[in-house]
Amino acid sequence: MKPIVVIGSGLAGFNVVKEFRKLDKETPLVVLTADDGRSYSKPMLSTGFTKEKTADDLAMASPEQVAEQFNVTVRTHVHVAGIDVDGHRVLLPDDHLDYSKLVLALGADTWTPPLEGDAVGEVFSVNDLMDYGRFREALQGKRRVTILGGGLIGCEFANDLSNGGFEVALVEPMGRCLPLLLPRAASEAVGRGLETLGVRFHFGPLAQAVHHGDDGTLITELSDGTRVESEVVLSAIGLRPRIDMAKEAGLRTNRGILTDRTLRTSAEDIYALGDCAEVEGHVLPYVLPLMASARALAKTLAGEETAVSYGVMPVTIKTPACPVVVCPPPADSEGEWEVTQQENDVTALFRGADGTLLGYALTGEAVKEKLKLNKELPALMP
Ligand SMILES: Cc1cc2nc3c(=O)[nH]c(=O)nc-3n(C[C@H](O)[C@H](O)[C@H](O)COP(=O)(O)OP(=O)(O)OC[C@H]3O[C@@H](n4cnc5c(N)ncnc54)[C@H](O)[C@@H]3O)c2cc1C
Repeated sequence: MKPIVVIGSGLAGFNVVKEFRKLDKETPLVVLTADDGRSYSKPMLSTGFTKEKTADDLAMASPEQVAEQFNVTVRTHVHVAGIDVDGHRVLLPDDHLDYSKLVLALGADTWTPPLEGDAVGEVFSVNDLMDYGRFREALQGKRRVTILGGGLIGCEFANDLSNGGFEVALVEPMGRCLPLLLPRAASEAVGRGLETLGVRFHFGPLAQAVHHGDDGTLITELSDGTRVESEVVLSAIGLRPRIDMAKEAGLRTNRGILTDRTLRTSAEDIYALGDCAEVEGHVLPYVLPLMASARALAKTLAGEETAVSYGVMPVTIKTPACPVVVCPPPADSEGEWEVTQQENDVTALFRGADGTLLGYALTGEAVKEKLKLNKELPALMP
């Protein structure tokens, strides 16, 4: 019997396995993963210093434990090279594997800006547990960190590394924290919160080069001529869904691998979910949507065709210096932000022309309004 093959051992891949085994104990399952296959929760990577957790502390289970618990074969450090759609098999570096059904849970790649300089190879990005292990090692005995990018990952690391005693400089060309997720007043509250921890912002310029300085330092050169000195540089510029393999195999892709509401791609017996997927136009690189997707897909794989529903999907940003919860309005929404504010407590409501609440951003004490607002918001994909 050909197995169901899952590519990816992140939260998407392993949650499909877990949900599927609740419904079907027998059908053979194989997980293929390019990394070491340990089960972990990626959101915890940006709280490791606050909670004093090493990469090993954050690993919840070894691949062997996952294999045993869910009756699944986990093959680690295997980079899948391609998909033979007609032959129903995945191509491995020097082998292939037949599948009955294939699940793509490939995640997203970090996007690194085109930097110059002789120290570009030393710029870190932290997108999985193995990266995190290397990053923590590099920070041993160091004091100063430069973070490129003030989005969710950059701001969370700025808070966490400050809690860990590091001096943090953060470069954000769009001029404020979380510029793509928050309206200005909320961004500024987060900025003030992080400043109280000592984070120094370089708002406006782009990072252009990273050079070796003296005594093991790295010099990050900005487009306004500023030279930021630190011992470690972390890039947190952005993520791009991993679509190349699907595209080469002839699957339809856009920003992500295109699926319908049953997580079915354009190819027969191939499904996608998590950060790599674009589900009926939604690319949502967060945990709540992937959990909903994993539950629905498990049912479909077990024979009960099931569409995923996305309810209200709030994102909690882990910047305890200024707590944030945001429910971004859907990408094409027309409307305006309505802001009320008391110091760092910001309530920003995004309303459509007819007054309907379409999204919100809350900071500081205002995060307490989350549950009330969630009841008022329409489901993202009912
Ligand atoms: C620091 C940080 C903090 C975050 N905090 C939050 C948060 O607070 N809340 C929230 O909702 N979201 C948060 N996120 C986002 C969330 O973690 C992701 O949406 C989620 O983990 C994505 O899971 P995934 O399984 O889709 O992808 P991944 O975890 O990236 O897994 C992809 C898997 O595919 C494998 N793979 C890829 N290509 C191949 C190949 N060719 N062959 C074999 N294997 C392959 C990889 O090895 C990996 O196992 C955070 C992300 C980061 C980086």
